[in-house]
Amino acid sequence: MYARISRTYLKLQARLRGDHRSPLCAECFQDHGLRRMARAVRGKSVRCRQCGAVSVHGLSREQLHDLCQTFFVRGSIIAADYGASPLIQFNDLRENELDVEGEINADIALLHKTIGIGFFHYGPRLWMLGAVEPLQKLRTRRGRRPVINRILRTYPVRELTPRDEFYRVRKAPAEASDAAQYDAPPDEFCGSGRLDSPSNSMLYGSQDIEICVHECRFSAGDELYVATLAPTRTLRLVDLTEILEETGTEFDSLDLTVLMLFLAGSHAYEITRELAASARAKGFDGIIYPSYFSMLRTGGMPFETMFGIAMRRIRETRSYEKAKVIGNLALFGHPIADGNVQVAGINRLVISKVAYAVTFGPVMSPEPSG
Ligand SMILES: [Zn+2]
Repeated sequence: MYARISRTYLKLQARLRGDHRSPLCAECFQDHGLRRMARAVRGKSVRCRQCGAVSVHGLSREQLHDLCQTFFVRGSIIAADYGASPLIQFNDLRENELDVEGEINADIALLHKTIGIGFFHYGPRLWMLGAVEPLQKLRTRRGRRPVINRILRTYPVRELTPRDEFYRVRKAPAEASDAAQYDAPPDEFCGSGRLDSPSNSMLYGSQDIEICVHECRFSAGDELYVATLAPTRTLRLVDLTEILEETGTEFDSLDLTVLMLFLAGSHAYEITRELAASARAKGFDGIIYPSYFSMLRTGGMPFETMFGIAMRRIRETRSYEKAKVIGNLALFGHPIADGNVQVAGINRLVISKVAYAVTFGPVMSPEPSG
C-alpha cells in the first residue's frame, strides 16, 4: 500500500517537474559515445522513467532527435571524390532496418520503442555524391572549358577595396620584416596549390587568421609571421562563395558543382587551376573561393537536405548555408611587387591554443561482399 502511494507520489512529483517530457536520460544508453554526447546536452533533472537513474540529463523528444541527427547522421557521413553523404538516416515513419556493430543496437531499439523513430541505411540521391552534370563535364577535357566560362559569367564580381584587410601567414621567412616575403612565391615554386600553376602565381590570403593557420598545417613550435595586407586600389574578384539562385534540379546545379569542386581534395586541383587561369585571362584580379576547411571551421555539415532538396536551394535556409562557408582570397600575379597590395603591418604569430570540437558516430558493419 505504502509503496503504491509513494510511487504515485513520485510520479506526480515527476509530472510537476516536467519529467514526462523526458522520455529518456543519458544513462539509458549503452553505447559509450552516444552516452557521452547525451551527457553533454543541457537536460532536465529527472528520476528516469526508463532506466530509473537519477540524472541531470533527462532529454526531451526534441533533444533526442537532435542527438540522433548528430550521432547517427553526421556520425555516418562519408566523403566521395566529390560530395558527401550520410550512410544512416531516420524518421518517424520507418521501421528499424539498421544493423550496426555493438551495443548501439540496444540503443537503436530503445529509441524506436520510446520515441518511435526508425533508422535505416540511407541510399543518397546521386547528386550528393557528385552526379551533377556541370561537374561531370568539368572532369572531362572536352567539357571543361565551356563550364568554366559559364562559372565566370554567372558568379558575381566582388570589389576588394583598400579598407578590406586580409592576412597571409608565413613560416620562417628569410627576413621576417621584409614586405616582399609575404608576396606570392617566385614562379619556380608555383604549381603545387589549389589554384596556382607554373605560369600563374598566386597570393593566397584570408580574412580569417585561423583558416590561414589551418590551411598551411602550421603547428606549435613553428616560427610564424603574419602580414596584414590591404589592396592599394579597388580589386575585382569573382566570388565563388555566393549561393546561386537557380532553376532546374540539383543534378544540373552549377552552385553545387562549384562548392563540391572546392570541398574536394587534390584530385580537383587540375580543374581549379584551369578555372583560376581563365579568370586571370578574363581580367579579374583574383578569386574568392570556399575554403576546403569551411565545414571544420564553422562546424557545418556539407550538402544538407530537407525533404530531399539541397538546403542551398531553399530560400529560407540560404543564409544558414551561406554561414557554413569561409571565403579565401587568391590574388593573381605578385600583387605586392605589382603594387596592387600593400603590407599594412607584420607581426609574429603565436599559436597559443588549439581547440577541437568532436562528436561521435556508430561503427558501421563492412559492406557484405559478393
Ligand atoms: Zn534513463
